[in-house]
Amino acid sequence: MHYVQAKSILSKNNSMNLYRGCSHGCIYCDSRSNVYNMQHEFEDIEVKQNSLELLRKALQNKKEKCVIGTGSMTDPYIPQERKLRYLRRSLELISQYGHGFTCITKSDMVLRDIDLFEKINSNAKAVVQMTLTCLDDEVSKIIEPNICTTNRRIEVLETLHDAGIPTVVWLCPILPYITDSPENIGGIIDRCADVGVNGIVCFDMGMTLRDGNREHYYDNLDKHFPGLREVYQEKYGTRYSIPCPKRNELMKLFNRKTREYGLLNKPEEIFSYIGKIPSKKKSVQTKLF
Ligand code: SF4
Repeated sequence: MHYVQAKSILSKNNSMNLYRGCSHGCIYCDSRSNVYNMQHEFEDIEVKQNSLELLRKALQNKKEKCVIGTGSMTDPYIPQERKLRYLRRSLELISQYGHGFTCITKSDMVLRDIDLFEKINSNAKAVVQMTLTCLDDEVSKIIEPNICTTNRRIEVLETLHDAGIPTVVWLCPILPYITDSPENIGGIIDRCADVGVNGIVCFDMGMTLRDGNREHYYDNLDKHFPGLREVYQEKYGTRYSIPCPKRNELMKLFNRKTREYGLLNKPEEIFSYIGKIPSKKKSVQTKLF
């Protein structure tokens, strides 16, 4: 772990990354790709030491309530967060300034902050987004080795739902020949419906590979799924987009089941839902600024 001084913390669309790099070890992680130009080992977490001061200033200057997001590049609940509490302190600031919050994670540490999600949700909006890829816990431990299993994440979703915190699931990536069975996809959707998830994001049935994450993924295939690297190389070459062979059948299943359960299933609808603060809460807050 090492510290840096950041120049800014919030992007134009109000997303932030307090940390850079991740130790959860997902074998398919796109954030490892060379395109992101990381100047340190992926597991050597970079901590933006001045992020809380930057965030306070950015929130102070906001004229309107907005939803602050995190988790697109690095899981915000990496083990270091337990001690550093940068995310927890960011949530306190977001709550103090009356804004909304959303994060994408795979960690059950998210439950630590349920009190702040409740507070933020009562004044604006808090949505927890959780990634689920594989119902079989044995496979889950191989492809996402340093994080809780999918079944534990489903328990977390249920706890959040019971506390009145809306949740969204990211069903991706789907790994060809590993997690692309109809039983896995259908089973995840069933469990999401059971625990009151509001929507499921799934752009396509497949994954992406590019320089930087491809070799890491292939090394793990050699280790855990011998012979599969050769199948991928033969079928996909050096393509970026890696669709599952049964992609059409799986997308039909996804669309049918999510529709039957009444879950949001179109990415644009889901993102609009996440980013929208209910007008009543919005107008009350506007008076405060
Ligand atoms: S949790 Fe996300 S950022 Fe971390 S290793 Fe897994 S895919 Fe990469």
